[in-house]
Amino acid sequence: MKLHEYQARELLAGYGIPVPEASLATTPEEARAATEALGGRSVVKAQVHAGGRGKAGGVRLVDSPAAAAEAAEALIGTNLVTHQTSPSGAPVSSVMIAEQTAIATELYLSVLVDAQLRTPVVMASQAGGMEIERVAEETPEKIIRVAADPVFGLWPYQARDIALALDVPPALVRPTAALISSLFKLFVENDCTLVEINPLVITEDERVIALDSKIDIDDDALFRHPDLAKLADPSQDDELEQRARNAGLSYVKLDDGSVGCMVNGAGLAMATMDITLRAGTNPANFLDVGGGAQEETIAEAFDIIVSDPDVKAVLVNIFGGILRCDIAARGVVMGAHQSGSGLPIVVVMRGTNAEEGLEILRKSNLNVTFADDLSEAAPTVARVIAGGAA
Ligand code: GDP
Ligand code: MN
Repeated sequence: MKLHEYQARELLAGYGIPVPEASLATTPEEARAATEALGGRSVVKAQVHAGGRGKAGGVRLVDSPAAAAEAAEALIGTNLVTHQTSPSGAPVSSVMIAEQTAIATELYLSVLVDAQLRTPVVMASQAGGMEIERVAEETPEKIIRVAADPVFGLWPYQARDIALALDVPPALVRPTAALISSLFKLFVENDCTLVEINPLVITEDERVIALDSKIDIDDDALFRHPDLAKLADPSQDDELEQRARNAGLSYVKLDDGSVGCMVNGAGLAMATMDITLRAGTNPANFLDVGGGAQEETIAEAFDIIVSDPDVKAVLVNIFGGILRCDIAARGVVMGAHQSGSGLPIVVVMRGTNAEEGLEILRKSNLNVTFADDLSEAAPTVARVIAGGAA
């Protein structure tokens, strides 16, 4: 679960990490008043669950309360499109009004879980700011990575080493090391999957400040952080992902795919994705209808899959167990009618009531092709999408 910048800022402040003075505004009037309170100048920052706001016009330095109101007016109620959002952008329903910081240097600092090392890793770079992605691509040696001990955490000497590697002014080595240690503590105590400060700023008057922060909390740990769970903003999520969540489905939209996959069980879903890829087509999503799904849930799952304009064919791969194949089949028929989709469907059904399920689909007037197993289904889907006969 992602936090907004204003929420992340408060969490950081709670750990004693220096952040700019700021408040939230949902109207131009509030933006004007907040800017006045800051002495007449501010930064108006669109609050969306995506980075890249600066380059997209979502971060505006203003020199008067009137200009702040104008900037807020221009942002609130619109969709901000950045390189991290979908092409339609993310809705801006509030702006953060922050004090203007006089920046001497922009650094980069983050903590994340390294799946390969199986431990949290601190990443830092002297080349912080809006070009960090280019730095990562073109000059990765400018980014240092320090693995923390999975049990102890980050040793104080490691925090100091990172501060030194960032080449901060001598007077700031201690405060920067302290900031890094606090950030690591925040990461662990709040079950974060990512905490990113970009930029971490050295100000002209030699202070170190977390100017912008992004925090991502592990969804599976939210049950023990009720206060954080309250900070969720579903309006920032993809519409289809919202629908799936409401229906109790695990659905993840994937880029560059054309096969909508409906599967029961996460392992089967991953195997289906792998085999589809091997057959030369890309899955457009990960969708696990789970074990106890009813006909209506399956119908909704099908509807969600075909509502994705990238989907050119649907692969239904059901291994009947707790979920019976006849229920899955009825759900698919219901979903196809409900959505009015005429997309080709390739079906593999095994297990409980498979014969009955296949019969229901055979008798439907849907464009269904049957396959005996997944290794046959995957190339069939590829052919169907290529436009050839199945
Ligand atoms: P992002 O583009 O979504 O990551 O938004 P940021 O909050 O990181 O802002 C983007 C850029 O705007 C920063 O890298 C800074 O260069 C600039 N910026 C943001 N706040 C200030 C500020 O208070 N003073 C100055 N001088 N620049 C700022
Ligand atoms: Mn940033």
